Amino acid sequence: MTVTAETMQTAQTASLSPALKQATPVVVDHAQGSWIHGTDGHDYLDFTTGIGVTSTGHCHPRVVAAAQEQCTKIIHAQYTTVMHPPLLELTEKLGGVLPLGLDSVFYANSGSEAVEAAIRLARMATARPNIIVFQGGFHGRTVAAASLTTAGTRFSAGFSPLMSGVHMSPFPYAYRYGWDTDAAVDFALRELDYLLQSRVAPNDTAAFLIEPVLGDGGYLPTPPRFLEGLRERADRHGILFILDEVQAGFGRTGKFWGHQHATDLTPDILITAKGLASGFPISAIAASTELMSKAWPGSQGGTYGGNAVAAAAAIATIDVIRDENLVENARVRGMQLLSGLQDIAARFDAIGDVRGLGLMAGIEFVARGDGDVPVPDAAAAAAVQQATTRHGLLTLTCGPAGNVVRLIPALVVTEDEIALGLERFATTLSDVFADDTLGQR
Ligand code: PMP
Repeated sequence: MTVTAETMQTAQTASLSPALKQATPVVVDHAQGSWIHGTDGHDYLDFTTGIGVTSTGHCHPRVVAAAQEQCTKIIHAQYTTVMHPPLLELTEKLGGVLPLGLDSVFYANSGSEAVEAAIRLARMATARPNIIVFQGGFHGRTVAAASLTTAGTRFSAGFSPLMSGVHMSPFPYAYRYGWDTDAAVDFALRELDYLLQSRVAPNDTAAFLIEPVLGDGGYLPTPPRFLEGLRERADRHGILFILDEVQAGFGRTGKFWGHQHATDLTPDILITAKGLASGFPISAIAASTELMSKAWPGSQGGTYGGNAVAAAAAIATIDVIRDENLVENARVRGMQLLSGLQDIAARFDAIGDVRGLGLMAGIEFVARGDGDVPVPDAAAAAAVQQATTRHGLLTLTCGPAGNVVRLIPALVVTEDEIALGLERFATTLSDVFADDTLGQR
């Protein structure tokens, strides 16, 4: 049957792509703060927050009010055609939270798009082709962003050729190597120098690209000394230093930006998205005006970039983070979460490592064979992640091997909610490993 002007509809119904993999069976009816209320009548403590997107919690009243009010004024004015006040106000406000010197901002819709904008800028500014990324990094799913991603072959296999000019150097993953952090940092910096000597000439290299905490790559905080080593090499070789703060930025780690755990360090380009607007799609890159002016006029833009409602929500998000002291809350509640997880880990042999920064916590599941090196146990992580849902706690897995469970509470999470989340996580583990002599100590 064809679509006619009268019906505008055939008898066909559509369904969601099978390639869309949902981590839980939950369908949300409504959500508030740290809680999701499912259409199944159950309440879930949400330690996924859209991977850190609902920073101020679900449906924060001030964010909702700002978006609603903006909807009555103007929803969309394409910023390459006419300007709207929320984008100007947001830019001014962002200026107050961005590292000193990063005073020029470009807006897009998603993290991936912002990553692409950063790469375009770096290549235009340096007239060099190569980008060096670090093993386990995640930078998005568009073809160029996937080309920069090494957090799992599932993100890039099957649609080659990928973007050329991307080279991968080791990440200081201390637990995996069985080393202490200093040894892992020394190794990773040495290997980077070796790469710059052996294959990728510094004067052919536009940028280093790294996350302050590996997100999808396993919730691994990047050691400050490694970030400092990159900054120093970037300065030495005229390479730009790009920080992907999409997941770790906006207060999540207990500092406003994830890289601020390293002393006195400023990237050349900072990428932000996710938590920026509490759930509305908007992303940004920030650089110095001098660097940003190296992008050719017209090379940046997009239909929905800097949408007015998303910008209004972002303004409210920054206000809420400041007024409710949420960066400090992330720090304190993050310490509560990590120490609770360490106590739990001591009871379960299946947990090899617990780590995190602020409200990004990763629990790595391993099988212990006869040898010294723990083997990633994706099946255990998947079983735990699925079982937490049954215990009223939403979690996600991550890591190239899929063997890390990550907890990402909202920045507004309370002491009682963290305690309840820990209780539910511990009960889940007891359940999953009940008959497993290997799983429990
Ligand atoms: N960079 C990082 C660090 C991310 O965590 C993500 C999303 N998980 C992206 C980029 C891509 O963002 P988006 O999904 O909005 O394209």
